[in-house]
Amino acid sequence: MATPSYRNAKNVGHVMIGQGAIAQLGEVLAPLRAKGGPAVWFFDHFFAHNDLPKRVPVVEGDVVIFVDTSEEPTTDGIDAYTDQVRKELAGAMPCALLAFGGGATMDTCKCVGNLLTNPGKAEDYQGWELVKNPAPYKIGCPTLSGTGSESSRTGVLCNEAKNLKLGMNSDFTMFEQLVLDPDLSVTVPREQYFFTGIDTYMHCFESLSGSYRNVVVDALAEKALDLSRHVFLSGDMMAEENREKLMIASYLGGLAAGFVGVVHPLSAGLSMVLHMHHGIANCYALSVLEDIYPVQYREVMDMMQKQGVSLKKGICANLTDEQYQQLYDASIVHEKPLTNALGPDYRKVLTPENVIARFKRM
Ligand code: ZN
Repeated sequence: MATPSYRNAKNVGHVMIGQGAIAQLGEVLAPLRAKGGPAVWFFDHFFAHNDLPKRVPVVEGDVVIFVDTSEEPTTDGIDAYTDQVRKELAGAMPCALLAFGGGATMDTCKCVGNLLTNPGKAEDYQGWELVKNPAPYKIGCPTLSGTGSESSRTGVLCNEAKNLKLGMNSDFTMFEQLVLDPDLSVTVPREQYFFTGIDTYMHCFESLSGSYRNVVVDALAEKALDLSRHVFLSGDMMAEENREKLMIASYLGGLAAGFVGVVHPLSAGLSMVLHMHHGIANCYALSVLEDIYPVQYREVMDMMQKQGVSLKKGICANLTDEQYQQLYDASIVHEKPLTNALGPDYRKVLTPENVIARFKRM
């Protein structure tokens, strides 16, 4: 019998959790600063007009980047940020990279980190185990919970030329340190909080209803799902204790990183063709999958009603045939999740007509 091959799973090294934890960031940075080199700070552009950058220990000579998160990160965008960071570093290696934001900002930090120590362009590393050299030390401080980017080993990018949404999956993509401080998510707009936060729920239910399973992933996903249910079915999803719960749910969901199902492929199609943000795209996807996920469909519709959040209808109503075809292509390409959910014959269920009809109903 052949010897089985087991994956050697990596976890995030250090995690600090609690209200006000961000005040200890200076202590965390001190030993890294002692080794020399500036820090590179990535802030969601939302914080350009907020006092957060002044409340964290940025010092003279550090590089500060405001990441434009109005659209999902792209391979071209990552190449541009990498060039900018390289230029500002002028040959120095950073002591640390830090990210303040949601998945888009964290993924930008993670992918730029890989490119600072590996030659070539972002698109060369879309896939699995393609990054060869360790990135600089990275510290993630999520200000928006849900994607699990803080604890996952991927940085997801849209490659416009290839019509492909795919991550840089590597142990080197992971953060070394996390600071989970619920005070950081207090200023998030309500809708954004919901649509981003619900991503944890989506990841975890998709993983738990698929066929590729393992006990650790299931345990983490079940707990993350429980916490998100509690948050979104409660009276005020943004109460302080709920913001902390959602931060932990997102962290656990990212650690679980189980295989997704049908929601994420359809969501990827929407992000590629309509440049839609991941979280809201997931909700649109689930809104036309009531036959495949009846229980979760009902539950998310209840959550949306409870939190006063809604989806505008008709987003795919007037597209060209070419765009419908692109939506289909950018969805059906995700073989692993679709097989996980529906088995190897998934194309028999998700025919072009079937999938395009679903998009038309959104
Ligand atoms: Zn997701």
